Amino acid sequence: MSILESSILQLAFALKNKSLTLEEISNTFYAQAQKLNPQINAFIHLSNQEDYQNQFNKVKAQASASSSSLYGIPLGHKDLFCTKDFPTTCGSKMLEGYMSPFDATLVETLDHAGMISFGKTNMDEFAMGSANETSFYGPVLNPLDHSKVAGGSSGGSAAAVAARMVPLASGSDTGGSIRQPAAFCGVTGFKPTYGRISRWGMVAYASSLDQAGPIAKSAEDCAVFMDHAAHPDPKDSTSSLIPWTSVVDQLPQSTDFFQGKTIGYLPTWLAHEGLDSNILEAFNITKAYLESLGATCVPIDLQSLHYAMPAYYILAPAEASSNLSRFDGVRFGHQCEAPRDLEDLYKRSRQEGFGREVKRRILTGTYVLSEGYFDAYYKQAQKIRRLICNDFEAAFQKVDMILTPTTPTTAFDQGILQRDPVEVYLQDIFTIPANLAGLPALSMPVEPNDQAPIGMQLLGPRFKDAEVLNFAHAFQLETSWHKRPFPA
Ligand code: GLN
Repeated sequence: MSILESSILQLAFALKNKSLTLEEISNTFYAQAQKLNPQINAFIHLSNQEDYQNQFNKVKAQASASSSSLYGIPLGHKDLFCTKDFPTTCGSKMLEGYMSPFDATLVETLDHAGMISFGKTNMDEFAMGSANETSFYGPVLNPLDHSKVAGGSSGGSAAAVAARMVPLASGSDTGGSIRQPAAFCGVTGFKPTYGRISRWGMVAYASSLDQAGPIAKSAEDCAVFMDHAAHPDPKDSTSSLIPWTSVVDQLPQSTDFFQGKTIGYLPTWLAHEGLDSNILEAFNITKAYLESLGATCVPIDLQSLHYAMPAYYILAPAEASSNLSRFDGVRFGHQCEAPRDLEDLYKRSRQEGFGREVKRRILTGTYVLSEGYFDAYYKQAQKIRRLICNDFEAAFQKVDMILTPTTPTTAFDQGILQRDPVEVYLQDIFTIPANLAGLPALSMPVEPNDQAPIGMQLLGPRFKDAEVLNFAHAFQLETSWHKRPFPA
């Protein structure tokens, strides 16, 4: 069995029946990470040999966790989860070398489960971007084609899983940042229902949209992650109190699962002028396959979705402008040299610490929140958000799940930043609605033409996370795109 290509449950099983040791599993992944990181820059901070050994020894001694299926499984955390053992930079100069005094709840939870963290994965600065090119620490290269971007903002996490440096990585998704890079790198990414995983210790971009989640090879691996990560957290008042029932034990065992299921699709989205023909073709193949398994696919129309993009690019920057005001050069983060006075300290620290895209969002956000514009922009956008929620609610009276492409194109060439930012924003057109409505959504790989990876997105009703994972798992039972080995 190839360690790098194995699923998490296969690795856990091999550990239990002693056909593999902790050392064999972890060292194999760590060697791959060390070999590939200089090429693709997936980790901003990859443990050196000594730190890795310390992490490993800590987990090995943690016998209490050995019954968990994540015990001894290597992991990378997106660099916006606060960690005591590694710097937390958010891909920004603003937080260069910053050491958090505490671990994020998610980090703590996965530590308790016995995961071995290799370090922190690269990301767009403060999670703003779709190409991982706004990172102060350099872009991530797509492991399948170095001339292409890995996607963003969780580009490092997606690339690390695609390149088999780790079997699992954490990500965050505010407008598509788990699903879009997963689609570009040919892996599976899951954005849970808003509130399912604690946001405590996850540096905020837009708090009402931010959600943590997994990037892994398969929906099954994502389900293993969710069974550990999804629980209420008194430290995060938005974390859901609805109990999580284990998904892994309940995953469907056959594609009969699709008999009698109804899947909605959006003809108006498929007619979107920016949608590449190969993506449309992949969508049609996926839909036909699901129909052949007994699902009924029905067209639906969600009028309000036309306004999702503009609403997002008002609400997210508005929240970001407020969240990022804490980086003032006083308490933590970059501080300018020899400030003349307090105002100069604020101004120059922020000017020097933030990159262009972050500044653009802060300016946009401050503008839409300013007196006189608030009603025209922010309030309108909130109303749109409500309409989108209502439209989805009505749609889910008729269908069990919605199927869409994850992205309008496959991974594009490096250097996108030189282009129009709006062109980059349009990347998120299919992913943003799930964040505005707080829905669970998953991207799974399909590559019918054996070319660049393509992601198909499943959207489910709020708190039907298990259903989304079941759909994707049933799809992956007899398809093999998610199992395509990484070229050695
Ligand atoms: N690409 C989107 C943005 O730049 C989404 C980012 C995210 O989900 N964090 O805002």
